Amino acid sequence: MALTGIDIFKFLPKTNCGECGIPTCLAFAMKLAARQIELAACPYVSDEAKEKLEEASAPPIRVVSIGAGEDVLKVGGETVLFRHEKTFINPPGIAVQITDTMSEEEVGSRLKSYSSLEYERVGLILKPDLIAIKSTNGDASKMEALVKKAKSAGAKKLILMSSDAGVLSAALNHCAEDKPLLYAADKGNIDSLGNLAKEKNCSLAVRGDSLDEVATLTGKLTEMGLKDLVIDSGARDLKQLLEDQVAARRSALNNFRPLGFPSITFPCEMTSNPMKETLIAGTLVAKYAGIIVLSDLQGHSLFPLLVERMNIYTDPQRPMATTEGIYEINNPTKDSPLIITSNFSLTYFIVSGEVESSRVPCWMLIKDTEGLSVLTGWAAGKFVADAIAPFVKKCGIEEKINHKTLVIPGAAASISGELEEELPGWNIQIGPREAAYLAPLLKNWKAA
Ligand code: SF4
Repeated sequence: MALTGIDIFKFLPKTNCGECGIPTCLAFAMKLAARQIELAACPYVSDEAKEKLEEASAPPIRVVSIGAGEDVLKVGGETVLFRHEKTFINPPGIAVQITDTMSEEEVGSRLKSYSSLEYERVGLILKPDLIAIKSTNGDASKMEALVKKAKSAGAKKLILMSSDAGVLSAALNHCAEDKPLLYAADKGNIDSLGNLAKEKNCSLAVRGDSLDEVATLTGKLTEMGLKDLVIDSGARDLKQLLEDQVAARRSALNNFRPLGFPSITFPCEMTSNPMKETLIAGTLVAKYAGIIVLSDLQGHSLFPLLVERMNIYTDPQRPMATTEGIYEINNPTKDSPLIITSNFSLTYFIVSGEVESSRVPCWMLIKDTEGLSVLTGWAAGKFVADAIAPFVKKCGIEEKINHKTLVIPGAAASISGELEEELPGWNIQIGPREAAYLAPLLKNWKAA
């Protein structure tokens, strides 16, 4: 059971020193119970109290790391059922599976896709995360060969799949330092895989025939001292899997610890139709998968999944924002046009993309509107004349250009008069409402 604020308060020093950023220990305890602050924020909690408070401060779904050093994928750590309640924390890892029954070409093409498929969107790099290496016939030497191939293709975040501890142990001879996820302990091999995971300090997936069985197995592994577990309810039918995903998340949020672990899912085992597999994966991105294992990576199906994942795991309370400042596009000179827009990332990337493809050298001012778009920023008083003028004066653009003509977005046309008053000597030009019409304006642009 989770501790209440009063329970937690009993373990705190009660000095009300405020070093945690909260004025009193009682208020800190309440925040900790509500999972709004980390226990580490109080430097005076004793080790004994820390151990007891771990349950209260830990997220209901454990964070599990796969990989080592800086190249680590974190899954789990979720605290809500619905994204709009707060935010989802760690996006699901997307894996591609290679097996010892595949031809050299099939393995090679999957590894090539894994290394080469990468997309940039709103300043973020989107790409697949993991290689799942599966032994189907218990041949350790084949498993070892696959691990070596994956590593030579640059893969460091691995899932090793076999029910045989001997096969996994052989594979670990080549990648134990990368801290792969071992898949999967079940009721038949729980002791051998549990001991191997403990010995090698690796995370371990648990597979049952139902959530009840998974809960029993995770309970046993926890007693063995294993903490970093990933769960698989065994369902390979979408309806059942979806029910299990939701039931596991609900149970975990109600502090049922045996299911408080991220899940691993296998769309690759649920259909042989690539389109259907992508749709299943898309469902699992939205409904709580920690890891999604695909049979192959194709740009036309991977890209939408990565964008869906990015959208769902973007904090709805914090708009994506670009840093305020002066941006140079297409090597501008002192006589190049100057435009301004808001720092909502989508606005920035759309506008800068249009300017870039126009090939017209251009200066671009990005005004901090706390991530709001032009129109919303205007309505909120953040993209208005008396906010823009001080920024233009202080940002240093006047030293970089020979003119004083500023193109503002058409959506903010109403501020042009006021802006001219706030910026004496400047000429304000009204640009198009849509970024798509910027190119003709820039090509024919003349300073006033
Ligand atoms: Fe209390 Fe610790 Fe916060 Fe100080 S830092 S007020 S002791 S909880």
